[in-house]
Amino acid sequence: MNRFCLILFGPPGSGKGTQAKLLRQRMAWPHISTGDMLRDHVARRTDLGVQIGEMMQSGKLVPDEMVNRLVEVRIAEPDCGRGFILDGYPRTIPQAGMLEKLLAAKGFTPVVVYLEVDYNRIVARLAGRRLCPVCGALYSLASNAPEISMVCDYDGATLVIRDDDREEVIRERLEAYDRQTLPLLDYFRKSGYPFHGVEASEGSPQAIAGRIEAVLPQPGSQASKGMASE
Ligand code: AMP
Repeated sequence: MNRFCLILFGPPGSGKGTQAKLLRQRMAWPHISTGDMLRDHVARRTDLGVQIGEMMQSGKLVPDEMVNRLVEVRIAEPDCGRGFILDGYPRTIPQAGMLEKLLAAKGFTPVVVYLEVDYNRIVARLAGRRLCPVCGALYSLASNAPEISMVCDYDGATLVIRDDDREEVIRERLEAYDRQTLPLLDYFRKSGYPFHGVEASEGSPQAIAGRIEAVLPQPGSQASKGMASE
């Protein structure tokens, strides 16, 4: 296949961020998380950050034009030339349309991996999620706890709960997913781009990463639009 980008698709709490970090190391591709980019703007209080702070805190999606612009600029950077991993983007049909145009112009094919996770597990996972504010490492109290409670294994920073991992916001995020993002499943399936469902409820993060790698196109393979989907 020509160059491709990996779209990690799934509800909040399905493990997109964790998988993107593991695959980034294995594939040596940049990990592009729109959530991380937006949080960075909020933390730095840029013009964009000031406009979106409240939306993000309440679990609502940020307007398409704002996110599209960030992605357009980011994927034009030289480190994205061989391929890249998208985590949390696209999240609406207009975003997917925009991405499709950008990728076509760069000669990239999108490969979609849908992380399939049971809803009850998602709520439990999100509520037990802890974040290192320094290096961005994600922990799960249930399946991937830090060695010392509330302390990052990598840099010793005190872990935090993301504002939008509070229970009432989790509900709003899942509703936003159902309303605005779930319709993308159909869109991707009909697009004819490679689409793979991967079971992401059971097994260690490493085992799930292995399942994802197993469905990715081999470098140089001829597969492109119309490849079998699951
Ligand atoms: P995430 O870290 O991907 O769960 O994203 C956290 C929050 O950032 C979301 O709840 C949205 O408010 C915002 N966000 C991230 N990615 C997008 C996107 N592609 N479109 C709109 N809003 C987004």
